[in-house]
Order: sequence, then C-alpha cells, then structure tokens
Amino acid sequence: MTSPKTVLITGTSSGIGLAAALGAARAGWNVVATMRDTGKADALRAAAAEQGVDGRVQVKRLDVVEPETITACLDEVVAEHGRLDALVNNAGAGSVGTVELVGLDDFRAAMEVNFFGVVATTRAAMPHLRASRGRVITVTSVGGVAGQPFNEPYCAAKFAVEGFMESLAPVAATVGVDVTVVEPGAVATEFVTSMGIDRGAALAGAGPYAPALRTYFERIDGVFATAAQSPAEAAAPITEALTCDRPAFRVQTSARARDIVGAKLADLDGSAVQAAAGGLLR
Ligand code: NAP
Repeated sequence: MTSPKTVLITGTSSGIGLAAALGAARAGWNVVATMRDTGKADALRAAAAEQGVDGRVQVKRLDVVEPETITACLDEVVAEHGRLDALVNNAGAGSVGTVELVGLDDFRAAMEVNFFGVVATTRAAMPHLRASRGRVITVTSVGGVAGQPFNEPYCAAKFAVEGFMESLAPVAATVGVDVTVVEPGAVATEFVTSMGIDRGAALAGAGPYAPALRTYFERIDGVFATAAQSPAEAAAPITEALTCDRPAFRVQTSARARDIVGAKLADLDGSAVQAAAGGLLR
C-alpha cells in the first residue's frame, strides 16, 4: 500500500481553505491545514470530526506575511511526513477602494498578503515539491483576470499572482511540478465581512465617487445574494486539481466565473470588460 500524499493549505480557518482541507482529507490526503491564528481551528476540527476525517487533518500555524512561520511550518511537515506533495496557496484578503480614496499603505497591504505571501510560500515549498514531483495550486479570482471596480489594490495583487504563476508554470514543468490557478467568482465566505468595511464611513468619505460606490455596494450585494457559490463548491476544483492525472493550468470554479474569464480572454480591445465593470456602477 502506498502512503497517503501530503498537502499544505494556507488560510484554512474559514471559507474556501477550510472546505479545501476537508475535500483533500476526504480524498485520502494528509492535510496540513495552516492558519495564522490556530485559535480559530475549532470550525475546521469540528467539520473534520463530523466527516470522519479528523485523523487526516493536522493544524499548524503559518502566516503568509511572516516568512519565518512558513519555513518553520515546512520544516515540521518534512520532518513529520518525510515529504510534501502539494501546496495550496489559498490565504487572501480583499479590500475596497479606488486610488484617490485609499493610501499606498492599502496597496502595499493588499500586495503583502495576496501576492508576496504567495511568492514566499511557493518559494519555500518548491524544493520539496521538486523532490516529490508535486503540485502548486493557487486560489486567485476572476478579479485576477478581469479588473473589478473599487477593487484596485486587490485586483492588482491577484493579477500579479496570475502573472507569477503563468510564468512559473512552464519552468516548474521542467522539474516535474504542475502549477494551477483556481479562479472563483463570488463565494459565500467570510471574505466580505473580513474586510471590515464601514460602508457609511466609506460613502461619507468618498466625495465624487460616492454615487458610484453606493451603486457598487448595491450591485455586489445582489451578486452575493443571488449568485454566490458555497465554499464546498468553490473548493471542489482544488481537490480535482490535487487528484487528477494532469491538472489544467487555469480552472474556474463556476459557470459564472467561466463566463467572466472567457469574456476577458477574448476581449482584445478591453471594451467587454469595461462594459461589464461599468454596469456595476450604474
Ligand atoms: P475567508 O473566509 O475570509 O478566508 C480567507 C482565509 O485567508 C482565512 O483563513 C484568513 O485567516 C486567511 N488569511 C488572511 N490573511 C492571512 C495571512 N496573512 N496568513 C495566513 N492566512 C491569512 O475568504 P475566502 O473567500 O475563503 O478566501 C479564500 C481565497 O479565495 C482568497 O485568496 C480570496 O482572495 C479568494 N477568493 C474569494 C472569493 C469570494 O467571493 N469569497 C472570490 C474570489 C477569490 P483569518 O481567519 O485569520 O483572517
């Protein structure tokens, strides 16, 4: 009997990461479920116990913006499991704003967690993934392909991740490592509440952007109310990318996400994306 493979997943305290940890464990993998605050592990532990996979889910601390926690975690994984077969870069955080309303610090913060966090974790994991001929799977977003209004820092960071992964993929393939980006649209997670936006204050401070921002909030609420996937639905393609013979480079998690990404990839003059994004502001 071959021993189970081991996957490290970032950001498993809630949402897609938590669901991905359960999905990988149900598929028979050893799951190193990492989070920046292991005090938040109760939901994952309870769900893993309920699904009978708690024996395959191990919680460890990893904050993607603290490089020493990445190397310490990977050292433990390799010492305990002898190998690492896959990395799922899932941790991320949203933000809302436009360049006149948010500071450089907000852009830097978005890049730190969503981009540099992915670079640092991938960089540290690559030697182990080369040794196992493993996989890097990174949760980006439709907002990593098509710009979303009032998401400038977040989309800039997710575009950067897509560029990083698209460039890495052919190089990693030469040493036996498969690279995949998973692109969700709206998913019903803690993502929006985690941004901690005070909408009243945001609108009060938005000056000439206030009408467009108000409409954006209304439209995006409508999208999340009517078209959001569950975390389990969004995580299913992650499990598929872990377990299938040859994962595709780019995977969308829903028909709606496929429509958005497909429209962008065919939009040579940018007019389709501008029309769709503008529609969220009118
Ligand atoms: P979520 O429920 O808010 O989960 C985000 C996870 O990332 C949480 O576990 C959070 O931990 C973790 N995290 C944040 N900063 C971190 C850091 N510095 N180090 C380690 N972990 C950190 O939201 P989600 O929707 O599941 O998001 C997962 C991924 O999906 C993100 O990359 C997001 O950009 C992407 N995505 C989400 C949507 C959506 O509509 N929900 C759409 C497209 C893409 P804490 O609990 O400690 O904050």
